[in-house]
Amino acid sequence: MRLCRFDNDRLGFVEGDAVRDVTAALDILPRHAYPLPRHDPLIANLTALRPRIESLLDSAPRRPLAGVRLLSPVANPGKILAAPVNYRKHLEEARGDPGIHHQKQVAEIQKIGLFLKATSSLVGPAEGVALRHLERRNDHEIELAAVIGKSGRDVPRARAFEHIAAYCIGLDMTVRGPEERSLRKSVDSFTVLGPWLVTADAIGDPSALDLRLAVNGEVRQQANTRDLILGIAELIEFATSFYTVHPGDVLLTGTPEGVGPVQPGDRLVADIQGIGSMEVAVRAA
Ligand code: MN
Repeated sequence: MRLCRFDNDRLGFVEGDAVRDVTAALDILPRHAYPLPRHDPLIANLTALRPRIESLLDSAPRRPLAGVRLLSPVANPGKILAAPVNYRKHLEEARGDPGIHHQKQVAEIQKIGLFLKATSSLVGPAEGVALRHLERRNDHEIELAAVIGKSGRDVPRARAFEHIAAYCIGLDMTVRGPEERSLRKSVDSFTVLGPWLVTADAIGDPSALDLRLAVNGEVRQQANTRDLILGIAELIEFATSFYTVHPGDVLLTGTPEGVGPVQPGDRLVADIQGIGSMEVAVRAA
């Protein structure tokens, strides 16, 4: 099942190049009072939502996908986990380019672990990326994003996939410089998720998906998730040895080689096999 959030927070069932408006399914979500839960209510209730969505399909209004504004398919992630330098060739590229490493030692992911991005950096493809530090290098990073569906702590890798609800495309936008990753990658709009969620049952094998990112039609990044240094299951085992994950938490699995600068006016097209394609405009903030 492919689910999107569009326009003014409507829920869409994606079907080819159309979207069926199944917002009425959200009526079954629990109403939360203060203090709010740490999870995303839609993701936490996805199992109950699915039959409700299916029952609405026949009568749901159908609209062309091209005519809707796609928002982040996860509205309220409790945290955004991200894997640094998790493809071998990107590690070599980062070590070889002063514009990326900024005189810092680029260590293997096994040594430096994961980092967190601010949830305020999250946008959907229709909102685009707004650059704030135009005098510095701002890079694109395409990544497979896994959305946690079930809470877990100390999850062994053999059970990691039980904790994943869905996948989508992620852009981990980055301003290069000497500061900590979590700061440089948390600029408003520097986490793009989209174009929709593909539920885990519909994705096939997430450890063998082609990824591709083009800037103004020129392919810059092209790889396959089989080249991940730490695979998705190992990343979840690693992450949950430090903290509990909750439904709606997003795991950005790392970017392959080919990262490079973007400028206001650029158009990024990110594709991941089994998910689809999303187009994202870059502008000055
Ligand atoms: Mn990244």
